[in-house]
Amino acid sequence: MSTAVKTAPQLEAPILDVFGSLQGEGVCVGDPQIFVRFGGCNLVCDYCDTPESIPAGSGTRRSVSDVLHLIDELRASRFYRAVSLTGGEPLLHVRFLAELIPDIRRRGLGVYLETNGSLPQALEKVVKGCDWVSMDFKPVSAVGRDLWEAHRWFLRTCGSKAFVKLVLTESTTSDDLKRTVKLIADVRPETPLILQPATQVGPARSLPAAQLASWWAWAGSRLPDVRVIPQVHRLWDIP
Ligand code: SF4
Repeated sequence: MSTAVKTAPQLEAPILDVFGSLQGEGVCVGDPQIFVRFGGCNLVCDYCDTPESIPAGSGTRRSVSDVLHLIDELRASRFYRAVSLTGGEPLLHVRFLAELIPDIRRRGLGVYLETNGSLPQALEKVVKGCDWVSMDFKPVSAVGRDLWEAHRWFLRTCGSKAFVKLVLTESTTSDDLKRTVKLIADVRPETPLILQPATQVGPARSLPAAQLASWWAWAGSRLPDVRVIPQVHRLWDIP
């Protein structure tokens, strides 16, 4: 029986895709980024737009070296500002991230982590190497679980690197919005809050425009930086 422990370049994680595109969500919308999409998620959101990434066995197992090689191939053809670590939930693969992130930074690229905000202990291990943390708040109406305390711990750990995204669907309640605003106000009020009307890809539908306008006004009267940004890459029809 082998007792070998995999060393850094041999570490593997399930990867669905490595591709170049424009960031379509949040505060960096329009930035050219390389996306590394991890397989596996610990949640099942009713509005998930990448359901193929949810199963633990999704994607192909690739090493840190493989992923860096794919990043280098993309960089050879054009300029990218950052690498977006997305999923699925990338923090399920925190040992892999801990090896990958310093090598991304050594290439002069920024590190943009897209996460569901539910794994604060994993975040603590890699947050130092991140430039941006795009953190979703997942209300009970979307995932059927209460994640508010995990989100609180997570947001504290992010500090100034975080912005919070709340995806709005017909099922989102005014209580979800109130808890979101209160938590941000308690932990770090200057954190940008992005209200993202859901793109209709599955059964979840976005909320009516009048409701969106009224919620934006309500949240904006309580926090200094509240923005409404839809999924722009879906409007452009790019990956
Ligand atoms: S956390 Fe993200 S990847 Fe996971 S189910 Fe929700 S939307 Fe999909």
